[in-house]
Amino acid sequence: MARGKKICKSCNTEQGVRSLVCQCGFDFVEDKRKRDFQNRELKQQKEEKKQLKDKIKREEKEKKQEEKEAKKQQKNPIVENKNFFIPPDYEKTDKLSSKENAERILSYGKERARSLLNQSRLSKTWNHVDWKIVEEGVR
Ligand SMILES: [Zn+2]
Repeated sequence: MARGKKICKSCNTEQGVRSLVCQCGFDFVEDKRKRDFQNRELKQQKEEKKQLKDKIKREEKEKKQEEKEAKKQQKNPIVENKNFFIPPDYEKTDKLSSKENAERILSYGKERARSLLNQSRLSKTWNHVDWKIVEEGVR
């Protein structure tokens, strides 16, 4: 196709690039308008599809997260069990030595230390505490 020419879709003849209507009656302006409209529609549909996909993805992610949380809760039922006493500074205990942790538990008083000792035996958690020291301490 020569420069500055375009082909009429209707009769297949070359037309000047600026011609608005072909001799055969084909309306280039109307055609462009239609194509633009279709492109917009397609774009919109694509966008809607993408949003729907993103929404599904997001929901799946949330569901997975929830399942993960549920599993975590099952793994650590102690967190949910209100009968267990959780030391208020439990989170910080990782930084202490097992001996320091044992002393900290003894500092709650014998009764509480004894209760924690029993809990640790039942749940087999809190390995960061030297329970032998606690055992000695509550005697
Ligand atoms: Zn034509």
